[in-house]
Amino acid sequence: MTARAIVHDAPIMRTYARLPVTLVRGEGVRVWDDVGAMYLDFVGGLGALSLGHAHPRWVDAIDRAARTIGLTSNLVTTRPQAELAERITSLLPVPDGRVFFCNSGAEANEAAIKLIRKWGLAHGRTAIVALEGSFHGRTVAALAATGQPAKRAPFEPLLDWFRFVPPGDHDALEGALRTNDVAAVLLEPVLGEGGVVPLSDEYLRAVRKGCDDRGALLVVDEVQAGCGRCGDWLSITHAGVVPDVVTIAKALGGGLPIGALVARADISFAAGEHASTFGGGPVPCAASLAVLQTIDEDDLLANVRAAGSQLRAGIRAKAPEATLRDVRGRGLLTGLETAPGVGADVVVSALLRRGVVSSTAGPDTVRFTPPFTVTSDEIDAVVDATVSALIEVAA
Ligand code: PLP
Repeated sequence: MTARAIVHDAPIMRTYARLPVTLVRGEGVRVWDDVGAMYLDFVGGLGALSLGHAHPRWVDAIDRAARTIGLTSNLVTTRPQAELAERITSLLPVPDGRVFFCNSGAEANEAAIKLIRKWGLAHGRTAIVALEGSFHGRTVAALAATGQPAKRAPFEPLLDWFRFVPPGDHDALEGALRTNDVAAVLLEPVLGEGGVVPLSDEYLRAVRKGCDDRGALLVVDEVQAGCGRCGDWLSITHAGVVPDVVTIAKALGGGLPIGALVARADISFAAGEHASTFGGGPVPCAASLAVLQTIDEDDLLANVRAAGSQLRAGIRAKAPEATLRDVRGRGLLTGLETAPGVGADVVVSALLRRGVVSSTAGPDTVRFTPPFTVTSDEIDAVVDATVSALIEVAA
């Protein structure tokens, strides 16, 4: 790899294993580093960059909102927040939904867990069922709900409200619900950080039925998979399942920090029970409105579905069988599970050398989360780079 001029970053806390590149400019799916090399950005802000870099409608919306009014606080209503809440409740299949705005996925899940707790205490239910391998964020309650022991370990003991079951295991789910003390089942319909694992439609329908039979809520974390990433406004729509509570973030803001909790009107905080200074500010709400409008008007959900299928089909067809264990995903959330002993990190490095920025989802899975605007030619280029990278690391 050519030597790169890395910026002085010693004062930044080492919470991330960083790629050896400093990105300085982006346009659409393309980004450039500080020595002028171009890359295809298939990380896309870890799934947040739904419209790509510097999309003109997104930039204009932010510019207009910032020039119109500053942060007003949530002590008053602003037009962008009200319009966004209206738009979200009309798009998401939560019956008679109400929206709480925050600034990230973890915050949305933190709010959801607090809301489940309140609802559960009122109904004599204190347990929450979550999935092994799940990821719900790094704040304390979201981390306690995360089914990855290694991520929780340095901080144990955490909240003991969560009961973990293996994803896809009907008997384990039934066993966990049988005690009638469960307030909610919390799950990602497509496990993201846990290796890009779509849950089967049959399992998701069984979870809905189990919740109905046992009087528990179904709470879905759509932070990574939702807002169009999997080709529908919610990834659980694929299974025809209607949740009681949903959390969204990432793609919603197109790169600006925003998250939201959407809950049935009868499952709610009262005034003063939850809050956020920045949540739902005019600028991120205006950016999100531009994102949702552009997805709709430019038919980007169709592009997400087509481009995702093209990517997975291309890699399946061209990659030597010995280099990959599995290619899976939905829409533009794709995971490549590498052959035993290879490891995802080396493939990510090999892809970077070929001008593709990618990420990992667990030790053995390379993840692609490009913008929804990605073109067929860009997908072809990444298929070829991936095949070449896999051949190199397997050699
Ligand atoms: N939930 C899921 C499913 C996620 O994938 C993530 C982040 O990757 C989070 C929650 C946490 O979101 P954030 O990083 O915005 O706090």
